[in-house]
Amino acid sequence: MMDQSVTEAVAKLRELEEKRAALYHAMGVVNYDALTAAPKDTAEGRGRTMGVLSGMEYKLTTGAETVAVLDVLTAHIAELDEQTAREVQLMKKANEQISRIPAEEYTAYSVLVNDAQSVWQRAKNENDFAAFEPYLEKIVAYNRTFAGYYNPDMKPYDALLNEYEEGMTMEVLDGFFENLRAVIVPLLRRVMAAPAIDDSFLHRSYPIEKQRVLSDMLMEVLGIDRSHCSIGETEHPFTDGFNNKDVRITTHYHEHELASSMYSVIHEGGHAIYELGCEDRFNYTAAAGGVSMGIHESQSRFFENIIGRSRAFIGFLFPKIRELFPEQLADVDAEMFYRAVNKAEPSLIRTESDELTYALHIMVRYEIEKRLIDGSLAVHDLPAAWNALYREYLGIDVPDDRSGCLQDSHWSGGAIGYFPSYALGSAYGAQMLHCMEAELPGLWEQVAAGNLAPVKEWLREHIHRYASLYAPGELFERACGKFDAAHFAAYLTDKYTALYGLKD
Ligand code: ZN
Repeated sequence: MMDQSVTEAVAKLRELEEKRAALYHAMGVVNYDALTAAPKDTAEGRGRTMGVLSGMEYKLTTGAETVAVLDVLTAHIAELDEQTAREVQLMKKANEQISRIPAEEYTAYSVLVNDAQSVWQRAKNENDFAAFEPYLEKIVAYNRTFAGYYNPDMKPYDALLNEYEEGMTMEVLDGFFENLRAVIVPLLRRVMAAPAIDDSFLHRSYPIEKQRVLSDMLMEVLGIDRSHCSIGETEHPFTDGFNNKDVRITTHYHEHELASSMYSVIHEGGHAIYELGCEDRFNYTAAAGGVSMGIHESQSRFFENIIGRSRAFIGFLFPKIRELFPEQLADVDAEMFYRAVNKAEPSLIRTESDELTYALHIMVRYEIEKRLIDGSLAVHDLPAAWNALYREYLGIDVPDDRSGCLQDSHWSGGAIGYFPSYALGSAYGAQMLHCMEAELPGLWEQVAAGNLAPVKEWLREHIHRYASLYAPGELFERACGKFDAAHFAAYLTDKYTALYGLKD
């Protein structure tokens, strides 16, 4: 039996968490509006609103009342149920991290990031890195400072990584990427030496109106309830989840790239399925929503690549796509489509790159971020460093910054240390498939029939329903045992050896 002071503290905690969730909801909607519906020259008012809201959130998370409640509950942590204990832990972590950042710096940073997003958008459109450079310099400087606030005992970049993937370090990632590169680079070389796959039909004219119909169809196949998840259109596709009943995804249509929006919708749909699959009990608490970027990316990339680019799924989907585009796809069959959407080739744009070369794009960003944060690379020299790494890892020349270092929105949003999560996500996903196949023998027959329910159910049961109850490493181990990136290497080797008819 908990004594009354603990019972009262739990009630107080829930009240504080709900207020904090409301502020996050409001900030999320303002941010979503900025990226979707807001007219171009409206950043100023939004910046002020974000400044006020984040100031309120700062006060709430660091206030004396919150500290007092957390102190009581931390002293009685063993008496709390698993979920409440985790909420206390997560609130305490947020409190400790945030209270080390002086309030003025925290507010100024929120305003900076808000401004930087519109500046980046313009800089990218106009291929003008110099316009974005002073903003990125400040963002890097803030992140370096914040890293010291988050965890003064860690190397600064490790502290940033830890924000996105609890427990991740450069030491782990250096090894992970090195091993992966040792498999991907020679495999890619053999793929490039094999006869090229013809994907030219994917670049015919696909009217955007009809691509929107394809998006609707994909949402239906993915089993995503449109009354709880909308699709918007933005420069760079993303997902926002406000709670498990209100998720927003976005896509971007290109008339001459059928696969682009199609796989954005499946990818973001994977994120949405995760958020929508969290149990109700976590809503409006500190343990709400997906637990980490790496686990989130494991879900989006599972649907995008492992399911969405499988022969089984394409076999089911292709006849429906051809019904939508009978003229464009008159001379194409499912096998040709399967091969085209899996074509591997070094390319410039991460989000449009194939499953095989994708991790190489991430390695470029990982190297750059490490150097920016440890100070060995100045922001001014970023484009040159970027271009050199693309040449070294992917063997290609970058013609301009628009298709080079300005292509991603992450840095303008202040997300440094996020990119490695994408590659980790792919590796987590490959191991989840390994476990899922063992437990669900008829898996691929179901996928071939367009029934994704068994896949979704497995993921919901092992991953989604727990929201942020367990740290990512623990969640993964409970579902799949010890993390071993060899599953991903084997998956890629098997898939591309068969696809390109490579001999051993
Ligand atoms: Zn994603």
